[in-house]
Amino acid sequence: MSEQSICPDCHGTGFVVVMQESGVSAAQPCRCRRDRLRDLRLRAAGIPRRYEHCTFASFNLLNDTMARALQLARKVVESFPGGEHGLLLSGPCGVGKTHLAVAALRELVEERGARGCFVEVNQLLRSLQDTFDRNAETAGRQILEPILGADVLLLDDIGVTRGTPWARETLGLIINERYNASALTLLTTNLPAAGSGEGESLADRLGVRLASRLAEMCWVVELQGGDFRRTIKSADFRS
Ligand SMILES: [Zn+2]
Repeated sequence: MSEQSICPDCHGTGFVVVMQESGVSAAQPCRCRRDRLRDLRLRAAGIPRRYEHCTFASFNLLNDTMARALQLARKVVESFPGGEHGLLLSGPCGVGKTHLAVAALRELVEERGARGCFVEVNQLLRSLQDTFDRNAETAGRQILEPILGADVLLLDDIGVTRGTPWARETLGLIINERYNASALTLLTTNLPAAGSGEGESLADRLGVRLASRLAEMCWVVELQGGDFRRTIKSADFRS
């Protein structure tokens, strides 16, 4: 351990001696212990480096759908533990769905002491398929354990590919386990949550049963792209 990493308050012991009102001195956990535990939890959550900077404060509010999503994301954090709703953010690329979901995950892990887990859905399915092909059941269980056991799970980009019946079944298993445990789940998807008649919806990809289960577990927000206020302003300017 380098000289610099030793806490100046407790000199690495993890405890500080505080004089109490009664005049008796007592040992108390140093704040560096709390900070260290928070860092460990954050690292264990597996947030990819490209999303590390994502916070509520840096979320770009361009229109009402984004404001609504931010409001609900904050509510999810405030209601933890014991809240009844996760969050399903749908919408096109570039509207900040993953940014917002990561911001909520971070806040829950850092400030609320939650065990968090970030999962990129396609990557997860590939790893599981690989262990399945190798008949490596133990490895498969090792992959699933932190996902099923997390206080808050972020499933990023669900429904991005059509997926095999096996992949669908696996996702179903994860989501049902989360549902049965009343565990908090955050999701992002590029697909509309409900069918609109145009193109495929999440229900088409995952099956109606699973999609409606998600709608039961989560507040669903359809984020729209673009800056509506700017569009309106420039329209006014032209008229
Ligand atoms: Zn310390």
